[in-house]
Amino acid sequence: MAYFADLTPYAYSHTGEEIVWREWGELSYRPRYERRNVGWLAAPHPFEQGPVPAWFAGALLDIIDGPAVNECRGLHECEFCPPGTGPIAHPRPSRNWLAYYEIRVPAEPGVMFAAPSLIWHYVTAHDYRPPTAFVEAVRRYDAGWAAEPSPWIPPDAERDLWDRTGESPRPPGPRSTRWSALSRRSAPTPGGSPAGAAATPGPPSRSRP
Ligand SMILES: [Zn+2]
Repeated sequence: MAYFADLTPYAYSHTGEEIVWREWGELSYRPRYERRNVGWLAAPHPFEQGPVPAWFAGALLDIIDGPAVNECRGLHECEFCPPGTGPIAHPRPSRNWLAYYEIRVPAEPGVMFAAPSLIWHYVTAHDYRPPTAFVEAVRRYDAGWAAEPSPWIPPDAERDLWDRTGESPRPPGPRSTRWSALSRRSAPTPGGSPAGAAATPGPPSRSRP
């Protein structure tokens, strides 16, 4: 995965657009907030290690279970685990992998922290200690940031609703490649082989209550 030092301006999404995955569909917009990187670790770059508050990992996982941002960046493997470890499984049954989307954590008015979902693994398995400002932002996190009206979502945001008829999982289009990543979420075996999961096409089951 790409390496970005903590608290540097976010640069991973080349389009500049944010795509937020919600229960009802996708919200896409050009953000009017500043984004700051946290947790974009990669070998051989050293990273801060040390204790974090006892509540931190659980609170972080709750955020990771919330609105997913900019999915389909591919399944990233942890570069600090032994070779061959494979994609890191999500520790809860809600999703299969930790390695294909990002999260946003409001930092202060007009500023969001932008982190890969793998950050939970870095904290729990490799003693990564994120910047104090991020730990504090996780403590005060409000999952409603992506629920409109919200100061974080601009009025010109586009909404792409899931097709609930079941006839057409999704119209063909430039975003159709995202389905291959989303389909991994509906694969039956968390911790199973990524190849097997990727071979199970279809819309994410979570989107069809
Ligand atoms: Zn690891």
